Amino acid sequence: MNHDLTSRQQELLDLVDRLGREKFAPRRAEYDRTASFPFENYDDLRENGLLGLCIPEAYGGLGADFETYCLVSQQIARYCGPTALTFNMHSCAMMWSGRLADDLPMDTEQLDRHERRRSEHFARVIEQGAIYAQPFSEGSAAAAGHAPFGTTARKVDGGWLMNGRKIFASLSGAADYYGILCTEDVPGQKPDMRDTLYLAVPKEADGLEINGDWDPLGMRATVSRNLIMKDVFVADNMQLMPRGIYFQAASAWPHMFFTLAPTYMGIAEAAYAFTVSYLRGEAPGTPPVKRRMFPTKQITTAEMYIKLEQMRALFRRVIGEAKYKPSKEERLRTYAAQFTIMEGANDMCRLGIRTCGGQSMLKSLPLEQLYRDSRCGSLMLPWTAELCLDRLGRETLYEAGERDD
Ligand SMILES: Cc1cc2nc3c(=O)[nH]c(=O)nc-3n(C[C@H](O)[C@H](O)[C@H](O)COP(=O)(O)OP(=O)(O)OC[C@H]3O[C@@H](n4cnc5c(N)ncnc54)[C@H](O)[C@@H]3O)c2cc1C
Repeated sequence: MNHDLTSRQQELLDLVDRLGREKFAPRRAEYDRTASFPFENYDDLRENGLLGLCIPEAYGGLGADFETYCLVSQQIARYCGPTALTFNMHSCAMMWSGRLADDLPMDTEQLDRHERRRSEHFARVIEQGAIYAQPFSEGSAAAAGHAPFGTTARKVDGGWLMNGRKIFASLSGAADYYGILCTEDVPGQKPDMRDTLYLAVPKEADGLEINGDWDPLGMRATVSRNLIMKDVFVADNMQLMPRGIYFQAASAWPHMFFTLAPTYMGIAEAAYAFTVSYLRGEAPGTPPVKRRMFPTKQITTAEMYIKLEQMRALFRRVIGEAKYKPSKEERLRTYAAQFTIMEGANDMCRLGIRTCGGQSMLKSLPLEQLYRDSRCGSLMLPWTAELCLDRLGRETLYEAGERDD
C-alpha cells in the first residue's frame, strides 16, 4: 500500500496491475507487430467497468477524479503503452463532458441540455460498452490551439452538417463514436475559435470514411488513420459539450491537455523496471546472466533512478494541482512536467538500451518497443515538447499584455 494514495485509488491500481500482468503484457508484442487495435484489452477494460472510469458515479461510472484517472492511465501504460494512449482518448471524452464541464459557467438552459445529452453519452458506455475516440488533429495550427479547426459544422434542422478531415485519429475503425472538434460554419462570418463545437459522430454515419495507411515507428496499436467527413449529419443530442464551452475549457482548465503524459510516465516506469530486472539476470525470457556488478551499469541505473524520481515528483504534484483556473505558477509547472515526462520517457528507454546492451533491443524483449513508443510522446499536440518550450520561454519572461516596443 502506497500511503500517498486513497484506498479507492489503490484498489483501482491493484486491479489494473493484475490485468496488466496477466492480460495486457502477454498481448503487447503481437499488437505492435501487426499494428492492430488491442480489442481484447478493451474487452477486459469493459468487463471490469474501466470504460466508465471517468463517468460520474451518479451515471453508473467509477467517478474517478483527474488525479485518479492519471494514476490509472500510468498503470495501464506500464504494461501496454498504446492501450493507455487510446484509453486516454476515450476517457477524456467522458471526463471533459463530465467533471470538467461541471466546473465551467453555464446558464440553466445550457446546463439542462448538457445534462440530458451527456447522460445519453454515458449510457452508451455503461450500458452498451461503447468506445469514444478523440480526433482533433488536422495538420494545421488548429490542434496547437493557434487557429480555428478547418473541419466545420453548419446548423441544419435537428443537428449539424459536418465537413472536413482529421489526421492521426487513434482508435480509427475501433471506436463506436468519434468526438470531433470543429468550427461552427456561420454564413457570412469568419471562422472563430470561440465557435468550436465538440460533436460525437457515430461510426456508421453516412459520409464518414476512414482512409490512409498506418505503419508508424511507435504506438502502432493505436491505429491512428485519417477520418474524412463529407456532409455528415450529426444530431443535436450528439454534442459532448455545449456550444462555446470547449473554448472556455481549453483556456480555464489547461490540465485537460496533460492527460497524455501519464502514458509516458508509465512507459518510463516500465523501462526502469525492465533495466533493473535485466541487469539482475531476472528478466523473463532471458538467461539468468547477471550484469549488475559492473560499476558503469550501476551508475547508469542510478542516473535512471534519479531521472525517474524527478519525473514522478513533478507528475504527482501536477496531477494533484489540476483545477479550474489554476494559478500561473501551476500552469507553467504543468508545461514543465509535460516536457520533462515526454522527453524523459524516451531518455529512460535510451539509457536502458545503452546499459543493458545489444540483446535488450531485440524484438523479443519489451525495451525495444518501449523505446519506439516513447518517441511519440513529445509530438502530441497541443503540448509538444517544442510548444511547451515556446510557452514557457515566453511566459517566464513576459506577464500578460507586456510588450517590447
Ligand atoms: C501515435 C500517435 C497517436 C495520435 N493520436 C491522436 C488522436 O487520437 N487525436 C488527435 O487529435 N491527434 C492524435 N495524434 C496527433 C498528434 O497530437 C499531433 O497532432 C501530430 O503528431 C502532429 O503531427 P504534424 O506532423 O502534423 O505536426 P505539425 O502540426 O506539422 O507540427 C510539427 C511540429 O511543429 C511544432 N509546432 C506546431 N505548431 C506550432 C506553432 N504554432 N508554434 C510553434 N511550433 C509549432 C510542434 O512542435 C510540432 O511537433 C497522434 C499522434 C501520434 C504520433
